[in-house]
Amino acid sequence: MASMEILENISLKQHSTMGLGGSARFACTVTSRGELAEALIWAKDHQQATLMIGTGSNIIWRDEGFDGLLIINAILGYELLEQDPGNFYLRTGAGENWDNVVARTVADGLSGIEALSLIPGTVGATPIQNVGAYGQDVSQTITTIEAYDTVLNEYVIIRGFDCGFSYRTSRFNGVEQGRFYITAVTYNLRRANPEAPYYPAVQKYFDEHSVQNVTPAILREAVIAIRTAKLPDSKIVHNSGSFFGNPIITQQLFKDIQLLYPDVPHWMVEDSVKLPAAWLIEQAGFKDVHDAETGMGTWSNQALVLVNESATTTAQLLAFKLKITDAVTGKFGIELQQEPELLPR
Ligand SMILES: Cc1cc2nc3c(=O)[nH]c(=O)nc-3n(C[C@H](O)[C@H](O)[C@H](O)COP(=O)(O)OP(=O)(O)OC[C@H]3O[C@@H](n4cnc5c(N)ncnc54)[C@H](O)[C@@H]3O)c2cc1C
Repeated sequence: MASMEILENISLKQHSTMGLGGSARFACTVTSRGELAEALIWAKDHQQATLMIGTGSNIIWRDEGFDGLLIINAILGYELLEQDPGNFYLRTGAGENWDNVVARTVADGLSGIEALSLIPGTVGATPIQNVGAYGQDVSQTITTIEAYDTVLNEYVIIRGFDCGFSYRTSRFNGVEQGRFYITAVTYNLRRANPEAPYYPAVQKYFDEHSVQNVTPAILREAVIAIRTAKLPDSKIVHNSGSFFGNPIITQQLFKDIQLLYPDVPHWMVEDSVKLPAAWLIEQAGFKDVHDAETGMGTWSNQALVLVNESATTTAQLLAFKLKITDAVTGKFGIELQQEPELLPR
């Protein structure tokens, strides 16, 4: 059996859709559990730290780079099992391209992940931040995760309800960040049509296109149309999707803001109020900005997306981020939190 190749001094720019960052001292691509075992033994023998990634669509690499072995997960696999009539379990390799998997399930008439169409990245990364969009997130369908536990040094099966899923969080990007190397994920899908109520932007699309009978394929089509109009294609424009989470603030602070901005968009979240970060960024003067000093900008159709126009270092990106967060804090007293991970930690 051919052994996987360990490469040396690899630019991390090609492993982040933002296109920034230093170098990894070593890197390898693993396509099976056997190759992952080989990589881990090699790292131990050479006393190197390890870090597993997919395609880098949620990673901002530090300019200092990563002094260790970067393990790129390319483990494939797609097995569909009908448990009861209409009730399916889909086990997928962690290195599968997420949108290809969504497309295949939709072609099979299955519902459960179709609103997550066109999200870049791999299957194995979806549990990390509980990937979500347009009314679905993966916590609703993940039943089990197969992962190599780097603390116990053995494979474990983690059940969906033990993943600590919440809005864009899980145990995998919380206290146990970096502990589990995910090799496969199983989703529970149904042969059924997605039911109303639909996410407002999706409902608007259905109304505008006179859609009556919503199938998984039609929901996927709507999400693709909405996303394509709003977001840049990360294969063409360097970006990491939403750069900030939507902040949740106290009712008192919300009332203060509403006095000055009666039309401020918001949603109630239990006793608190959630505001769209994009609105705050626009109000702070960063709508469709092209910052010559840092080579960074905000995407014309969505201010929440920071784009790398000509920046060459992560320091430039962080300087631009600071301009935005300082302006938002100065105007509204709200601290925006970065969504893509700054690595290494
Ligand atoms: C244009 C654009 C739009 C986006 N839209 C959305 C959206 O709508 N909703 C949303 O939730 N996200 C969105 N994202 C963010 C991103 O696509 C997701 O977070 C995606 O799941 C990341 O996949 P990846 O394979 O690129 O992971 P990476 O960026 O490579 O890794 C992300 C994190 O997961 C860890 N990781 C990756 N694979 C594994 C594994 N197999 N085992 C253990 N740890 C692993 C990494 O160490 C890192 O901490 C968007 C990004 C872009 C660029």
